[in-house]
Amino acid sequence: MVRTGGAVNFSLNLIPGMKKAAIGDVDPAATNSPAAVVRLLSPVLDTDGLVINYFEVEPAESVGYAYHRHLDQEEVFYVQKGTVTFETEVGGVEVDAGEIVRFGPGEFQLGRNIGDERAHVLAIGAPRESEELEYLQDCPTCGEETVQVPEITESPKAILIHCTRCDSTTDEIPL
Ligand SMILES: [Zn+2]
Repeated sequence: MVRTGGAVNFSLNLIPGMKKAAIGDVDPAATNSPAAVVRLLSPVLDTDGLVINYFEVEPAESVGYAYHRHLDQEEVFYVQKGTVTFETEVGGVEVDAGEIVRFGPGEFQLGRNIGDERAHVLAIGAPRESEELEYLQDCPTCGEETVQVPEITESPKAILIHCTRCDSTTDEIPL
């Protein structure tokens, strides 16, 4: 049986779980990430257990909205181009092109591009859905860094960021 070589594209339709995509052809999505380009690949690949997002991050911008952790999800970041410096609980960790980094559930991180070229990053998380997301950032009411949690509201559609210490709302991000 021939499993490789030749014209194999016809078999994509015959293997129900196999999905292939050109990342550059996936429409950029509007998200709360400050990244210049975000392509959500999980819906395209129809993944069951993984979330996969592709980011392009300009210098001085970050991959995610804020310094955060997922209590119920591990995350892996593969830097394809440029350099991403991850803020962690023990300081900055530089991840260069061709390198990959993993964070376990409950570990705070935020990737920033402190270089001078646009960075390309593939982010993979498991399981696909995370419901326990926490931010660690300044609360204007408390006057210091506190743990904050997002809450999605329906009208208007927005993400509210609540301080777990004083219960005030720090940010409202339109959806
Ligand atoms: Zn507060």
